[in-house]
Amino acid sequence: MRRIVIAGGAGFLGSHLCDLFLGKNFKVVCIDNLITGSIQNIEHLFPNEHFEFYHHDVTKFIHVTGEVDYIMNFASPASPIDYLKMPIQTLKVGSLGTHNLLGLAKAKNARILLASTSEIYGDPLEHPQREEYWGNVNPIGPRGVYDEAKRFLEAITMAYHTFHGVETRIVRIFNTYGPRMRLDDGRALPTFMSQALKGEDITVFGDGSQTRSFCYVDDLINGIYKLLMSDYVYPVNIGNPVEITIKDFAEEVVELTGSKSKLAFVDLPKDDPKVRQPDISKAKQILGWEPKVSRSEGLKIT
Ligand code: UDP
Repeated sequence: MRRIVIAGGAGFLGSHLCDLFLGKNFKVVCIDNLITGSIQNIEHLFPNEHFEFYHHDVTKFIHVTGEVDYIMNFASPASPIDYLKMPIQTLKVGSLGTHNLLGLAKAKNARILLASTSEIYGDPLEHPQREEYWGNVNPIGPRGVYDEAKRFLEAITMAYHTFHGVETRIVRIFNTYGPRMRLDDGRALPTFMSQALKGEDITVFGDGSQTRSFCYVDDLINGIYKLLMSDYVYPVNIGNPVEITIKDFAEEVVELTGSKSKLAFVDLPKDDPKVRQPDISKAKQILGWEPKVSRSEGLKIT
């Protein structure tokens, strides 16, 4: 049996990855310090003899006994509200945590895939965003703690690849949604859904003309699996290219839930990207991947 370490394995994406790899007959070692992840996301896995859980902070030295074939780095706060509350942890996990996991990969001779983000493109001046675009990030703005940590993650990953010959993969993840997002994580979809279900005002930031492109979690996880198993070492965008304004998205959620909630327009947070849409030509060409679940299907399941 192959064995995989999943850092951030109790989080939204990490826990779906634990499910996927156990389903593919891997042994899974899940590491999480549970500051944004939750035991609830993985408690169904505890009876599985091929599942281990380490309650550990990856910014501290990581000790894993035995052989490891693959490593996934999905440890980080990922919602703007969370990383504003935990700016130092966000910087540390993206830098020190990533360094430790790359060190583990080198020591174990394991292939490692690291989660980067569309945030490395910042408030993009190129649209849609291709992997060749270098981005427009404010390093000292509120989002800088996440964006720059992830930019460092990409830089150190490529350095471990070129200098130490570690087998590395980098995925740039665009907005993703689905079951197990925390209702209070502050991101648009869970916030809108909980507001709609409680009949509260839907808090649209700014005039809601900013755009995002939302990918259903199963599609994303499937793309990440394909990337891990490919031999491509440069960053690959994985996301759903169907773009929508946040105002239209809020209206979709109200309609879907049959809620009487009204939209309330509130201040736009600083440096909120005005547009975001992945160019997924690379994923299509290299991985033969594209998303399959439409927003209306995905929202219903969520
Ligand atoms: N947003 C909003 N209301 C909310 C939460 C978010 O209008 O209650 C907006 C936010 O300003 C951004 C978009 O929705 O333009 C997506 O925000 P999210 O926090 O989900 O992630 P981001 O893509 O900004 O990282």
